[in-house]
Amino acid sequence: MYKAHPNNGKSRERRNLPFVKVLMYHRIVSDKSLPGSHWTCVSAKEFRSQLEALEKWGFTTVTFDDCRLFLKGELNLPRKPVVLTFDDGYRDTYRYALPALQEFGMKAVVFVLGERRIRTNAWDKCLGIHGAPLMKEVEIKELRGAGFEIGSHTMHHARLTEVSEHDAWKEISVSKIQLEDMLGASVPSFSYPYGAVNQMLKQLVKAAGYDIACSVVSGPAVFNKDVFEIRRTTILNTTNIAEFRLKLLTTYRYYEWARWKTKNNLLNLVAKRSNGNDKIHRDVEEVEGAMRSSNEKQ
Ligand SMILES: [Zn+2]
Repeated sequence: MYKAHPNNGKSRERRNLPFVKVLMYHRIVSDKSLPGSHWTCVSAKEFRSQLEALEKWGFTTVTFDDCRLFLKGELNLPRKPVVLTFDDGYRDTYRYALPALQEFGMKAVVFVLGERRIRTNAWDKCLGIHGAPLMKEVEIKELRGAGFEIGSHTMHHARLTEVSEHDAWKEISVSKIQLEDMLGASVPSFSYPYGAVNQMLKQLVKAAGYDIACSVVSGPAVFNKDVFEIRRTTILNTTNIAEFRLKLLTTYRYYEWARWKTKNNLLNLVAKRSNGNDKIHRDVEEVEGAMRSSNEKQ
């Protein structure tokens, strides 16, 4: 496994990380054709091929904490760093991703819930997605012991843009405290459920003491331009090796960013021109709803 090494503070110039790739996974399953599988379920075989490819193409896995130390000038990073993130903390991350990553000497960042009494992804039931077991405490501790970074994904997988500021603060801050108590270690990173983020939430995440937070499709193209809205590239169950390679290109991130920006600009333009017109308001809501459901479960 790559161990980032201290640089003894020799290089404290302003540091840029435009080259760090951040990939987003949810579940790794034994067979994606099994009932209950959906677009977030990458097969263990495909996942292994992706790790093989990363190794072949010269990528090295790092954590967000490695990036933080790099930005402080306290650590060097490898030439082609990549952060592999797993949302929700499924048991199959432990069962299939951990051994595969260990085989390749790689590590990852896993975002889990602070509320340890939640045993499955019950929040997906309304989308018709089968329940899948989440990791137990002992398994999360084992990941941490294996050099993985454990981050928070709120207490209850809350869509933070739709709860009160008070509730959002509790979801963000209490989950950090609970997980840190459980692990006896710091929990430096956060992932917004559904990628739902706004300026107020970013302030709360910062105030709670996190160093970094991940969105899904939003945020600047350059990695450290906004460390509380880190854009990620989604790996789907349909992503083949050619697409996987494409998604690792720096230009792909700019393409994703431009696509997101264009959608946002269009929505803003329509909203501005509506000038109180109810029908157009409804159209905007419809487009936003469609965008949201296409991002469901992220
Ligand atoms: Zn999630």
